[in-house]
Amino acid sequence: MHHFQYKQDELYCEDVPVRRIAEEIGTPCYIYSLATLRHHFLTFDSAFTDARHLTCYSAKANSNIAILKLFGSMGGGVDIVSGGELYRALKAQVPSNRIVYSGVGKTVEEIDFALREKILMFNIESTQELEQINRRAEAMNTRAAVSVRVNPDIDPNTHPYISTGMKRNKFGISTDIVMQAFEDAKNLKNVDMIGLDCHIGSQLTDVTPFVDALKRLRALIERLRQRGADIRYLDLGGGLGIVYDQEAPPQPHEYARALLRELQDINCTLIFEPGRVIVGNAGIFVTRVLYTKRTPVKNFVITDGGMNDLIRPSLYGSYHYVQPVARNLQETEIVDVVGPICESGDFLARDRDLPLSSQGDYLAVMSAGAYGFSMSSNYNSRRRAPEVLVTGGDYFVIRRRETWEDLVGSETLPDFLEGGLQ
Ligand SMILES: *Cc1c(COP(=O)(O)O)cnc(C)c1O
Repeated sequence: MHHFQYKQDELYCEDVPVRRIAEEIGTPCYIYSLATLRHHFLTFDSAFTDARHLTCYSAKANSNIAILKLFGSMGGGVDIVSGGELYRALKAQVPSNRIVYSGVGKTVEEIDFALREKILMFNIESTQELEQINRRAEAMNTRAAVSVRVNPDIDPNTHPYISTGMKRNKFGISTDIVMQAFEDAKNLKNVDMIGLDCHIGSQLTDVTPFVDALKRLRALIERLRQRGADIRYLDLGGGLGIVYDQEAPPQPHEYARALLRELQDINCTLIFEPGRVIVGNAGIFVTRVLYTKRTPVKNFVITDGGMNDLIRPSLYGSYHYVQPVARNLQETEIVDVVGPICESGDFLARDRDLPLSSQGDYLAVMSAGAYGFSMSSNYNSRRRAPEVLVTGGDYFVIRRRETWEDLVGSETLPDFLEGGLQ
């Protein structure tokens, strides 16, 4: 379900024509629908109303502070993976006792920041990290609440780059040493070991791997409790997939039903870290056709948006549905939609049957709300695109387009180059 629909052959976001935004703000740009964001958050969160839980939106999927603020104001928390995301979450006034901090490589600076802000818990991913957090908490004369990220060795059947819960992945602590980690932690005076967590991958389209992982964590919790551990939180991560093309991922209520069945009497506060399933289909990427080019083997539609703006197709070979902003029921042709970047891997879509495009036409790249803007870069010295939030008949720019000055503003010339090399 999303609020990007045609009305008389014009694509709208809620009640605003996409063309109007494109003309007024320029392209490329990202457009998000507030109604869709709210709907997806509520659908996910309410699937777990029967259980004591906290939905910690995974900031890395789309970290704009307006989006974080929205979910925070709907009662959500945030799952962060860096000090920068912590900074954003606090800017968005998300209460720090609803922030969980994941990631394999937390620096001392980041750990200190999170300790100072008294976040809900650290999801630790190695024994060295646990010791580091203990040392920092001791130095700051405070205590750190810790949950151990378990690597349950489950194949999530997704793209290898976004599989995270298999033995060969860098994430989490393998099940056979989790018990030992809790034993060793008894000697660490400034950490409270209060939970277990896992996150096995992203864009999962089947509940089975989630349930398998949960069973392993549940068995571990029982063993840990037998040895006196006070496990109060169980964090099941994110990873629920969405429809980009022909996938049929479980709906949040089906996902919830399958998990809750395994969670009877678990006596833990559940934490979820959904990202993509909340924001993915709530955003589109809008780009303008600069040129079309025919060659004997391919037809190209060259757009003003490229892999620096939306890297998923280039990085993972991901599919995003592409459709014209003004629908014309004329002839179609098979084209590659490519960006202006100097890389052959710079494409948004390949071998697509699209209505004939002309210079100046706008194209909507669908399902671009997750890992779209947040993975964008300045490669080729391109300014990052603006982000627009639509609600009803209004729209708001929640991030302006970068300026040329933004591109070089943090660079400096060393003295010896100021006047040119002598
Ligand atoms: C990326 C990530 C998530 C969110 O994943 P989605 O597939 O977007 O739901 C949740 N938890 C952790 C630890 C992550 O790294």
